[in-house]
Amino acid sequence: MIPDDTANHLADCLERLRWILWSYKAGGIHDWEYCPPGLEEQAPAPAVAKNAGKPGQAPLLGLRRISEELSGCTRCRLHSGRTNLVFGEGSAGSGLVFVGEGPGFDEDRQGRPFVGRAGKLLDKMILAIGFERKEVYICNVVKCRPPENRAPLQDEMAACSPFLFRQIEALGPRVICALGLSAAQTLLGSARPISQLRGEVRYWRGIPLICTYHPAYLLRSPSQKAAAWQDLKKVIKLLSSGQWPVASSRSSEKPLLTAEDRGLKTV
Ligand code: URA
Repeated sequence: MIPDDTANHLADCLERLRWILWSYKAGGIHDWEYCPPGLEEQAPAPAVAKNAGKPGQAPLLGLRRISEELSGCTRCRLHSGRTNLVFGEGSAGSGLVFVGEGPGFDEDRQGRPFVGRAGKLLDKMILAIGFERKEVYICNVVKCRPPENRAPLQDEMAACSPFLFRQIEALGPRVICALGLSAAQTLLGSARPISQLRGEVRYWRGIPLICTYHPAYLLRSPSQKAAAWQDLKKVIKLLSSGQWPVASSRSSEKPLLTAEDRGLKTV
């Protein structure tokens, strides 16, 4: 007879494994080599670890390639309503990536993520954890604005998420922060509500992932800001643990791929 806590722990491990495998599959990875126990240390580092802790040209080149592949994208219906594709912007230097849902009106106009009302709140959240906006990287699950600011549909997220996954791999962050349900569910391959996905450290391809409420939701429900702050404190703790050179990389890192870099007009 397996004790209850062991069974719960096993169930948790299996669910985490299911999420990891789902995100590999969604990212186009369908098979990988078996590594017998004991050989892990000699095994080549996974793709995400290659850039980890080494902010510099590598993310910039990787992101540029992905951005070029997305240029003129017509993979889903959202392309027909866009003014600008909103790829993402910021720096890999802090080791922190925020993932939102998709561009709104202002973002579509400017070709930049989180520049409207929700963006102003996100800026404050970033400042609260000790960074300036340009020191972190900000992107979305879908890169084109859904009509009437509706949530992106499953097939739209499925078309765009492989690019998000490659974007995150190119950045090799220390911590990912998912803002809201679409980002949390996409990164975790889960259908659970955000209230169940937030509050604990989860993982995307081995990278710690904190899910929290979307800033637009926090504007409508300010009483949830306290819970979001608890999540952000976890982000701080994760960033300051381990070997990632957070402090040393912060001052020198230039923002990567701004709207101007990509030749997008800013209004
Ligand atoms: N909401 C998002 O999810 N992303 C943005 O870029 C702006 C608002």
